[in-house]
Amino acid sequence: MLWQHVRTLRFKLTLLHVLIFGIILSILSVVVLTIWEANVLASVDERLLDRADSALASIERAANEGRDQPITEGVQPQLGDLRQSRYYFQLRSASGESIIRSPNLRDVRLPLPSDMNRLKTASKQAIETVSGSDIARLLGADGQMRVLTRYCEVPGVLPFVLQVGLNMGTFNTSRSSLRQIFLMVVPVGLLFAGVASWLLARRSLAPIRRIAREAQALTAAQLDRRMPPPDAMDEVGEMVVTVNQMLDRLEDAFRAQERFVADAAHELKTPVAVVIGGAQVIAQKERTPEEYENFLRGLLDEMRRLNQMVDSLLTLARADAGMPLLGAEPTSINEVVTDVIQRWQPLASQRCVRLVASLPMPRGDDPEPLVMGDPELLDSMIGNLVQNGVRYSPDAAAVEVEVRLIENRVRISVRDHGPGIPPEHLDRVFERFYRVPRVEKGGSSGTGLGLAIVKGVARLHKGDIKVANRDGGGCEFVIELPLAVGL
Ligand code: ADP
Repeated sequence: MLWQHVRTLRFKLTLLHVLIFGIILSILSVVVLTIWEANVLASVDERLLDRADSALASIERAANEGRDQPITEGVQPQLGDLRQSRYYFQLRSASGESIIRSPNLRDVRLPLPSDMNRLKTASKQAIETVSGSDIARLLGADGQMRVLTRYCEVPGVLPFVLQVGLNMGTFNTSRSSLRQIFLMVVPVGLLFAGVASWLLARRSLAPIRRIAREAQALTAAQLDRRMPPPDAMDEVGEMVVTVNQMLDRLEDAFRAQERFVADAAHELKTPVAVVIGGAQVIAQKERTPEEYENFLRGLLDEMRRLNQMVDSLLTLARADAGMPLLGAEPTSINEVVTDVIQRWQPLASQRCVRLVASLPMPRGDDPEPLVMGDPELLDSMIGNLVQNGVRYSPDAAAVEVEVRLIENRVRISVRDHGPGIPPEHLDRVFERFYRVPRVEKGGSSGTGLGLAIVKGVARLHKGDIKVANRDGGGCEFVIELPLAVGL
C-alpha cells in the first residue's frame, strides 16, 4: 500500500519540492545566523574599542597633568566610570602584572592573549572571546567574555596593557534562541511545503488520472468514446487533444479493417456459394455430358475469379503492412509497359480497342526510366489500369499509355475515351471493393479491388496515383514513382 504511494508521480513531486525547499531554508538559516552573529560581534567590539579609547584618554590626561608615574592609585579616580559599569576593566604592567582591576572582576584576572609579543611590536591590540575556569567562576558555568587587550605607550608613563571585557551572556542567549527558532521554523515550513505540494500535485495530476481511467474503460466496442474536451489548452489539454486525435485515427483504421474483413468474407463467399449451388443442382439427377461440361466451365471461371481475388488480397495486405519491398530491382518502366500492352493486345483487339504506348527513348545523356521495384507488382499495377481502360472504352477508341521523365520521377499516364468516372465517385474508386454502379459495357464483372491494388503498389514504391476525368470524355490515371538513383 505504502509502496504504491511511493511509486506515484505525486509522491516524487512532493519529495522533490520538500527537498528543494529544505535546502533553501537551511542555507537561508545559516546565512541569516552568520550575518546576525557577525553584526552583533562587530557592535560589541565597537563598544569595547570606545571604552578602551575613553579609558586611555583619562590616563593620558592624568599623565599630562604630571600626576603620576608609574600608573598607580593616581589614575584610578579617572577610571571611576569603569568601576560601576557592566564593562570589566584591568590594567597590567608591560611585564604582565596586574596593577588595577575593576571591582566587578573580584579576584579574577582577565587572561592575556597568547601572542603578547606580537601585540607589543605590531598590532598593538587584540579582541578575543575567552572562557575557562576563571571566567566561569565570575560568569557561571558556560560564561564567555569578549576581551579587548591593548598595549599602550603613553608619554610620561611606563608602557602598560589595558584590558576591557564585556559579558557575552546576552549575545549567547540571543544566538541560541535564534537557533532554536530556526530549528523549529525549518521543519514546520517543510511540513507545510510537503502538504501544499501533495495537494497541488494531486490537483495538477487529477486530469491525467481521469484520462487513465477513461483509457482503461475504452474497449473495441466503444471506439467512438472520447475524452471530455479540456477546460484549458495547457499541457494536459494538449495531451487530451492528442489522445483524442489518436483515438480518431485508431477508430478509422479499426473501422477500415472491419469493413475489409466483412467485404472480403462476403466477396469470397459469393463464388463459393455459386459453385455449391451449381453442384447441388447438377447432383440432383443424371446430366448430359454438355451439362457437365457447362458446369465445369462455370466452376473453372469461378475458381479463376477466386484465385485472382486471393492474389489481390495478398498483394493488398503486403502493401498495407508497409513491408519493405522484397527482391526490389532496377526495373525498366518502358519494358513493363511494353509487356502489359502485348499481353492485353488480344483482348483489346477483340473489343476493337487500340492500345497506344508513348515511351521516352533513351537518347544521349537521357537515361531509360528505371524504378527500384518489384517487376511483377509494377506489371500488375499498370496492367490493372490498362485492363480497366480496355473494359470501359467504346469500340474503335484508343487507350493511351504515356511514360515521361519529370526531374527525378517517372510519370505514367493511362488515358481512355470511355464514360469516365462520375465526379461524386472519384474520391472513392481507390477504396477496396468499391465499384461505381453503372449500366454501361463491362460494368459489373470486376472485384472492386483493382484500383486499390494499383494505389497500394504505387505507395509501396514510394509513389502516388491520381485520377481525373478528361475534357473530351474518358478518364486519366496518373502515377508518379521515384526513379532509381545511383545506378
Ligand atoms: P473493378 O475490378 O470492379 O473494375 P476497380 O477497383 O478496378 O474495380 O475499379 C473501381 C471502380 O472504378 C469500377 O467499378 C469502375 O466503375 C471504375 N473505373 C475504374 N477504371 C475506370 C475507367 N477507366 N473508366 C471508368 N470507370 C472506371
